[in-house]
Amino acid sequence: MVDSGYREFGLVGRKLGHSMSPELFRSIFKKYDVRAAYHLLEMERIDEVCLLPLRYPLLYGFNVTVPYKESILPYLDNLSDVAREIEAVNTVYIDRTRNGKNGAFQLWGHNTDYSGFLHSLDNFEINGGKALVLGSGGASRAVSKALLSKKMDVMIVSRTPHPYHINCNEKSSIPVISYLQIDKVLLNDTDIVINATPAGMWPEVESGPPFPWHLIDKHIIFYDLIYNPRITLFMRKALEQGATAMNGLRMLEYQAFDAWNFWSAIQTNKP
Ligand code: NAP
Repeated sequence: MVDSGYREFGLVGRKLGHSMSPELFRSIFKKYDVRAAYHLLEMERIDEVCLLPLRYPLLYGFNVTVPYKESILPYLDNLSDVAREIEAVNTVYIDRTRNGKNGAFQLWGHNTDYSGFLHSLDNFEINGGKALVLGSGGASRAVSKALLSKKMDVMIVSRTPHPYHINCNEKSSIPVISYLQIDKVLLNDTDIVINATPAGMWPEVESGPPFPWHLIDKHIIFYDLIYNPRITLFMRKALEQGATAMNGLRMLEYQAFDAWNFWSAIQTNKP
């Protein structure tokens, strides 16, 4: 941060009982010796976001989670390139020096799910291969863009397949299939399956995406973006068949750290 004044940050979402963000950000504040607080800001409707800068005069920025990463877009004044490409935002900076569409401040949107996911793959040697991404929301788009940048062939799996567009240079559209189209032949050829749906997240820990579990093969990496619980049903099914499974904790840490860097850098880089 440029000055050492006390600041507030927060997380906007509908139900936030599962969130580890306050804990994570407290450790970031401690590491950088910053006087700051991090609030959970539950909202029934996304239009309440316009009131946040007024309700919290010291709020400097906030993260955004399920289900608002896309519905927040109309309330933002600026978007970073990556947020524009992914059409989803998980990090917002409040610029109180300019008027914007919601009042005497501007909201600047950014996406660190993309960079957070990309960093989380560092331990895997991924270059090419095939990926199935379950779900077609904001996290799915961030993950798909990251996988395309790793030269992977990506397929989205949706409960209601529909044309899927991703505004990035690597490819303009990604095939979308239904869960019923997942078969042995497809999985033989698949290197990684990513759960980018909220199915299985606390407290609904005994649920999961409608994946054909009996077809799991142990050569596939099963990556759940969910981090609470630490071992989801999706991961359990994979581990039971001898496959590799990981949760979303590393991604969470990286995306939080990247959000912090965005907020920290913005003062100096503001046009
Ligand atoms: P979202 O927009 O609410 O949902 C993503 C997609 O999941 C939906 O578009 C839907 O796609 C599918 N879906 C929703 N409910 C489902 C259900 N009950 N069963 C099967 N599919 C369902 O959420 P998101 O923001 O993209 O986030 C998705 C997940 O990733 C959440 O659990 C979130 O916590 C996690 N996440 C983790 C991190 C991290 O740092 N670890 C970062 C970002 C997100 P279809 O309708 O096409 O099936």
